[in-house]
Amino acid sequence: MDLSYILNELGEERSDYFNAVSPPIIQTSNFTFNTVSDFRQALAEEFDALLYSRGQNPTINILRQKLAALDGAEDALVFSSGIAAITVPVLSLLQQGDHAVVVENPYSWTIKLFNNMLPKFGISSTYVDGSDTEQIRKAIQPNTRLIYLESPNTFSYELQDLKAVADMAKPRGILTMIDNSYCGPLYQQPIALGIDLVAQSATKYLGGHSDVVAGVVTGSRELIKKIFNNEFLNIGPALSPHSAWLLIRGLRTLPLRMQRSFETAKVITRWLQDHPAVDQVIWPFMPNFKQSGLAVRQMQGCGSMFSFILKNPSVQKIENFCNKLQHILMAVSWGGHESLIIPAIAGMAKNEYDSTNRRHNLIRMYAGLEDAGYLIKDLEQALDEVV
Ligand SMILES: *Cc1c(COP(=O)(O)O)cnc(C)c1O
Repeated sequence: MDLSYILNELGEERSDYFNAVSPPIIQTSNFTFNTVSDFRQALAEEFDALLYSRGQNPTINILRQKLAALDGAEDALVFSSGIAAITVPVLSLLQQGDHAVVVENPYSWTIKLFNNMLPKFGISSTYVDGSDTEQIRKAIQPNTRLIYLESPNTFSYELQDLKAVADMAKPRGILTMIDNSYCGPLYQQPIALGIDLVAQSATKYLGGHSDVVAGVVTGSRELIKKIFNNEFLNIGPALSPHSAWLLIRGLRTLPLRMQRSFETAKVITRWLQDHPAVDQVIWPFMPNFKQSGLAVRQMQGCGSMFSFILKNPSVQKIENFCNKLQHILMAVSWGGHESLIIPAIAGMAKNEYDSTNRRHNLIRMYAGLEDAGYLIKDLEQALDEVV
């Protein structure tokens, strides 16, 4: 399916709503029926019916069709947050006594899901260095039902070889799921590589304007229907129609925004790498990235988030640098129009800091839609503070 068709037409039956170009926000909780027979049918099979907006809603369904098509998947479910799009499917796939193999250093709330929440249901997990598929294979136990991936992650960017992991998992009957937030559907297509479920925080690139919190999971119709009929309806993480509309609007410009910020990240990472105050820049599309070969083979482009380490780092030096920035904002999240920075030290008590631990020294930057030159000027004046 053409990308332009997906983003501009798919799912939009304009004759249903006065030929309006922009789809309506169907702000309703429930839908009526003319006959008991129709009502009975909808109650019996909510997956195929407009009954109640905790399940299906027309504005949401436009978005679902587009997101499924973008991933090359049969179907999609959207959620009121990215972490709900991870937690709810994982709860659906696993049951008491099951085991999951999880890659190291995933998103922080993903760690809490596997460490704190799943053990309450008797589900265990093992973390592995996913950059080596053999480590994943060795961690498999007789009760392993899920291999959970995040490639790349959003702080240190380790990758997994998605095709190799899928090829290893499939014959063993183990499901694979990935958090694909970093690349998004334009720069990585996990379904085509054999991954079963693809989750994303739609808060990030898909929304793209830092004004909506949402998530999506895509996969086979069978898996999506199972999640919908059970955990999705029972936990109730539905997105609001208004937020769905904002996401449809965000998607119109996804290719433009992705390309722009990818180009900006190329320029800034190169500039930073050459700066005398910078020790190392970590970005999957840099030639010196440790998994650069896999990155360019597996990804069609790169997210615009990268991390870097200052020379002779200290808490004071990192704080001085970040505090001095005038235009690059200090905030969580990413994927919006605005460039952001977050130092690893913001997430720890000062006395936990170990200057020899490279992870502690990481400064993560997200390049948004501003001009590269404008951002470099800001970085330059802040780096002058620390050389
Ligand atoms: C933000 C993020 C999430 C969680 O998404 P929310 O929309 O904030 O709930 C999950 N994974 C990654 C990689 C993220 O960056």
